Amino acid sequence: MKISKIETLRLKESDEPVPAGSRESWDTITRRGSQMDRYKTWYQEKSDWAAQSGNVWISITAEDGTRGLGFAPNADVTATIIETHLSKLVLERDPLSTEAISDIMWRASAGLIGGSTARAISGIDAALWDLKGNLLQEPVYKLLGGPARDYVKCYATSDDLDWSQELGFQRFKMSCPWSAEDGEQGLQAMEQKFTNARTIVGGQADIAFNPVMSFDLEYAVKVAERLRPFNLRWLEEMLPPEDYEGHAELRKRAPYAVLATGEDHHRANQFMRLASRRMVDILQPDVQWCGGITELVKICHIAEATGLRVNPHFGANTPMGLHACLALPAIEGAEYWLGTAPGIPIRFNNKIPGHVNPKNGIAAPPDRPGLGFEIEDDQLTPYFQ
Ligand SMILES: [Mg+2]
Repeated sequence: MKISKIETLRLKESDEPVPAGSRESWDTITRRGSQMDRYKTWYQEKSDWAAQSGNVWISITAEDGTRGLGFAPNADVTATIIETHLSKLVLERDPLSTEAISDIMWRASAGLIGGSTARAISGIDAALWDLKGNLLQEPVYKLLGGPARDYVKCYATSDDLDWSQELGFQRFKMSCPWSAEDGEQGLQAMEQKFTNARTIVGGQADIAFNPVMSFDLEYAVKVAERLRPFNLRWLEEMLPPEDYEGHAELRKRAPYAVLATGEDHHRANQFMRLASRRMVDILQPDVQWCGGITELVKICHIAEATGLRVNPHFGANTPMGLHACLALPAIEGAEYWLGTAPGIPIRFNNKIPGHVNPKNGIAAPPDRPGLGFEIEDDQLTPYFQ
């Protein structure tokens, strides 16, 4: 059997009105530190410079009419890469040959590899795994050799700790409004932030910190020193992804800190580079950004071989992540990004039809074939009209 059609599509989302929350979400009122902080023009508004978000949906159809669905973020960019470059590499291939199709897409993209191409490849890979599951009538986690566990332990990424607790989460990650530009003042504010956080969640609960590449080496070392008393679960992505020497040096200069990174690394070889020198303790690939489920499996095998742990970025926010997290032994848990305001039911936080949101801090994917999307044909229209 061959793949006969690949399409880029828009999903018509549910028009169920979102109820009002009890207060504004941390996500709408919290500034986030970033690499752009040195340019004061862009200091306040991330939306002024960040790449367009939103998903393009990808449908891949086999000769017998069976279809698989996937999606990729930064829709205008990734849809263009799929339509103008990747589609032709996928057509006419055996729909079950996810390894070969992944390899073909990477090799044919030698001059284009970077975040955007990796995201487009990830979206096609998701549709191929959904198609494989639909053809074989098995959920993806089983096709990946799972389950390795009964459910996935999820931590909540949200500064609304009280709301996360109310939803039953027992593990947390908090944002960082500061960057290296903020100096001593920023360090003191961080200490205050985690003093407050510990009073809410107690001394034992896991709390991680997410600076999102906003530090340099010198500042990252200071942050690790100053936050050491708070016994944080990990310090995440303090340096830009390409600064491998910085990561290696940070490991030496903050040996006591639990270090994590990976959401902005893509393809298994970048994770091999992190793992081979033990630059971090925890790898955080994002299944939407790293190259897809096929690549995530390879990253987990690297982690197994080097004794590292994997905690996928955004892992419990997508069906692809949840299936992989249930199936792969190297994965210790997953992120659940929570941006809706306190009081709004959790289903409004996630707009992927058929996706299972965590309950009491745990989640498991549905037993339906493939990735378990619940999408009707008339909800999908061509991305480019
Ligand atoms: Mg992060």
